[in-house]
Amino acid sequence: MESGFEAQIEGRALTPMMRQYLRAKAENPSALLMFRMGDFFEMFFEDARIAAKELGIMLTSRDKDRGDGGTPMAGVPHHAVGSYVARLVDRGFTVALCDQVEDPKKAKGLVKREITQLVTPGTLSDLDALDPAAPSYVAFVGAAEGSPPVRPVGALELLAGELLVTHCDEALLADELRRLGVRELLVPDAERSAVERLLGPERQLPLRPLTSLVGPAAARRALADRFGNEALIGQDGPASDGQAVALVELVRFAEATQRRALAHLMKPRAYRVADTVILDETTRRNLELTTTLLDNRRQGSLLWHLDRCRTAMGSRRLGQWLLFPLREPAAIEERLDAVQALKDDRGGRETISRALDGVRDLERLLGRVAIGRATPRDLGAVRGSLQQIPALRAALAEQRTALGRRWRELDPLPELAALLERALVDEPPLACTEAGIFRPGYDAPLDELAATCGEGHGFLVDLERRERARTGIHNLKVRFNKVFGYYIEVTKANLAAVPSDYVRKQTLVNAERYITDELKRFEDRVLNADERRKARELELFAELVDTVAAQGARLRTISRLLAETDALASLAQVADEGRYCRPELVAEPVLALEASRHPVIERLLPGGERFVPNDLRLDADGEQLVILTGPNMAGKSTVMRQAALVAILAQMGSFVPARTARVGLCDRIFTRVGAADNLGRGRSTFMVEMLETASILRHATRQSLVLLDEVGRGTSTFDGVSIAWAVAEELHDRVGCRTLFATHYHELTALAEGRARIVNRSIAVQERDGRVVFLRRLVDGPANRSYGIQVAALAGLPGGVLRRAREVLGELERRQSHPGRSEASPPAPAAPEGALEAALDALDPLNLTPLQALAALDRLKTIRADGAPKG
Ligand code: ADP
Ligand code: MG
Repeated sequence: MESGFEAQIEGRALTPMMRQYLRAKAENPSALLMFRMGDFFEMFFEDARIAAKELGIMLTSRDKDRGDGGTPMAGVPHHAVGSYVARLVDRGFTVALCDQVEDPKKAKGLVKREITQLVTPGTLSDLDALDPAAPSYVAFVGAAEGSPPVRPVGALELLAGELLVTHCDEALLADELRRLGVRELLVPDAERSAVERLLGPERQLPLRPLTSLVGPAAARRALADRFGNEALIGQDGPASDGQAVALVELVRFAEATQRRALAHLMKPRAYRVADTVILDETTRRNLELTTTLLDNRRQGSLLWHLDRCRTAMGSRRLGQWLLFPLREPAAIEERLDAVQALKDDRGGRETISRALDGVRDLERLLGRVAIGRATPRDLGAVRGSLQQIPALRAALAEQRTALGRRWRELDPLPELAALLERALVDEPPLACTEAGIFRPGYDAPLDELAATCGEGHGFLVDLERRERARTGIHNLKVRFNKVFGYYIEVTKANLAAVPSDYVRKQTLVNAERYITDELKRFEDRVLNADERRKARELELFAELVDTVAAQGARLRTISRLLAETDALASLAQVADEGRYCRPELVAEPVLALEASRHPVIERLLPGGERFVPNDLRLDADGEQLVILTGPNMAGKSTVMRQAALVAILAQMGSFVPARTARVGLCDRIFTRVGAADNLGRGRSTFMVEMLETASILRHATRQSLVLLDEVGRGTSTFDGVSIAWAVAEELHDRVGCRTLFATHYHELTALAEGRARIVNRSIAVQERDGRVVFLRRLVDGPANRSYGIQVAALAGLPGGVLRRAREVLGELERRQSHPGRSEASPPAPAAPEGALEAALDALDPLNLTPLQALAALDRLKTIRADGAPKG
């Protein structure tokens, strides 16, 4: 693009403005440059072509008559530039805004222009362009350290003023970046391809390679200067060199995009990935934590169900709690205490909700103040939010919880609230260049100027009356327009009555317009006052913004408390409405639920249908691995997921949908769904299923909770059963984690024989008149049969097909009594007795790589098809 660009401008005679444009373009050659000209932001050359195509705007041409075809040009109106920029950034472009930085009226010669902002996917600050319910981080990933390799990761949220830093296992990197909500990634140029490999083809983020990095020593000095010496102490002790570099590069990048020092960035917070429950992306998707599996929508997800927040910042906080469940009991109990107190106090909760309705996205508004982009309306929203503090404080300060204490100790900044109240009109304008930001009485000089401007109207009415009387022209009008200023208009029919002191200004088809000495003097005074009034408003507004910015740290404390209160009140509301219980958190690896329900399915069941609650018990020292059988549609997946959701809810600090719940703290939760069930993914391959299973076997510990739903389904029955068997054995013998294993392979129920911690459970169904009735009750022991045909009948499969299916099933069941036959094997010609068994015996699943396992499966299939191994 750059060389094409140079070729296009080569040999042209450049105007001074074009030279100014090219200088700006050269500063950021890879960004699309939007160049302010009058009321438009224009793009030229290749940028114009790209913008025309991406935005569907007209491609025109400047200096067409020069003979070289002119300069391609495309423009957007300046007042709407934000939405165009957002669209370009969304398509992966970086946009440089080059604005006029002096008043064109006062400029001598060419108006001075400068790049005022670089807009990138990770540094958006336009509230309309940002997803209100999700954070927006730019992250930095550094070079690998140690073995197994971990990488330093830093993340910066521009508007929240937040800096995070951690070390992340390479294996978790892609998941962690997604979980955080990273929109853009900085990497050292040398690490680019390595990081791209780690992210995988599906998970690419806009990547920005950096060629010259700050050195570790300089980075440490810069951090200490900015945040004090403790800035370098993380949870693991002193920050590593890589972490220091990551933080400094992020700050440099953010400041370069905003073209200013960012004083609002808070001290970096170091965290360990393992401090929270690790939920990989497959698990998050399968459990539908934030979006649904089938159509990727928020509605129908757990977060959708939990989110009764009144503010966007509350929703973001809740989402973050859900994706980062805690492992530290004291921190969880603190949230549970607050939820409990709010749940028990319905009246208080109503007051709180009402007050929160008046609170705006204070977190992001403060960010806009800090980066110098706050509008009068933004400050109005800050004021509105602060006005709710007294009511919230009154409702919450009594609470005998950590939340209550924080409200008691909060500085509600009454002087700032009062100042904003006194200063701003009820509905401040959108732009600071518009008049009418301030209330009368706030600033005497401004009031005087406003009075002069306001006199205008009275004067004009008076003048019109006097001139009508003097000339006898009844329809004489005194008016104003932007181009010609003030004038007296007389229609053609009345021209004869025009006095001699009228000076003609403009001729229209039906009228003439005049000015008089008196009107001219008035015009000078008023226009002058109007200019000075605007200047005064701008000056006062800048002062007010500075005053708010100076309270940034205190306001951040307020916004954080508001967001958390909102999230906690939301959890309390859900708990109250759903009659949830407070979970008992324990250290032992158990999960004991009485009358538990699936929070989302329960809510979405069609009217009249009741969700059937179930008891469920898992215990790493007892009922460690539950084999769950039952016909299709019985409710296996549902009951398994509800176990995981209860654990996640408990560790995020929420009440849970059950009568009682004892939850042993989990370090990780895994959920795998067999390929055939995994519709949403759009790539339901057996390979993916096996890779995911391999990852569980590698990472699960005794503290983990593992859900396997029909794993092994994506291949033929024999392969599937054998793999499922071996995986279950491994989880029992070696890992020892709490496991729920739903399967339609009856063979697996035999696993319980001789294995102390494997138990069979099933979901009860009843057969009435040849039809199956789902009872939804979890019971001891394996399912006695699979009722596939009855379920098919429920689905309306034709009678003939059902009859034939029953015949085939009868045949299969007769064969099952034959030794060495599995129920699941079809009535086809079979291999010689024993060949398969021998081949199976020869396999040692524990010592196979996934690829070897695939090859072995293939061999087993060949044996079955041909009756003898090949080669
Ligand atoms: P399976 O995995 O056994 O095929 P699912 O768990 O997918 O069955 O459940 C199928 C449907 O049955 C669910 O979508 C839900 O509508 C209903 N269902 C499941 N469990 C219950 C329950 N405990 N109470 C009421 N309805 C349930
Ligand atoms: Mg299922």
